[in-house]
Amino acid sequence: MITVLAAALAVGALALVLLIRPHHLPPPEPASPTAHLEQRRKTVYDNLRDLQFEYRLGKLSDADYQEAKKLLQQELAQLTAAIEGKRASAHLQGPKASAPNAAAGGAPPSTPPTQSAGNRCPHCGALFAQPLKFCGECGRPMLGGDS
Ligand SMILES: [Zn+2]
Repeated sequence: MITVLAAALAVGALALVLLIRPHHLPPPEPASPTAHLEQRRKTVYDNLRDLQFEYRLGKLSDADYQEAKKLLQQELAQLTAAIEGKRASAHLQGPKASAPNAAAGGAPPSTPPTQSAGNRCPHCGALFAQPLKFCGECGRPMLGGDS
């Protein structure tokens, strides 16, 4: 009697395990905030190349080519600005630059390794939550990179 019960329990447990299959599938990898923008930019690049190709073949008039090229280049500039903006905001939302281990992390090659240096004054060493052009302590320029 007890063995039958135990067997029934075992079968039931087995059925449970088979029915409730754990979902070990990882959630879809969160695309980087700029992934779709970069994809779009690549498409625009391709369009530009195709456009030049067709123009060389004589399929497009000069005016049509210039107009289409201008539109594509405008979109390219907008996409580039959007990508740069998203990257900048991602940096601002990142972990606070309290630990000086920015160089130790496996930062993607696209991000400049000096990103956290912008928060620290190279002259007096004052640390700020946001990258500043001029130090709030000593007033000297924080970064000589982009002028
Ligand atoms: Zn300073």
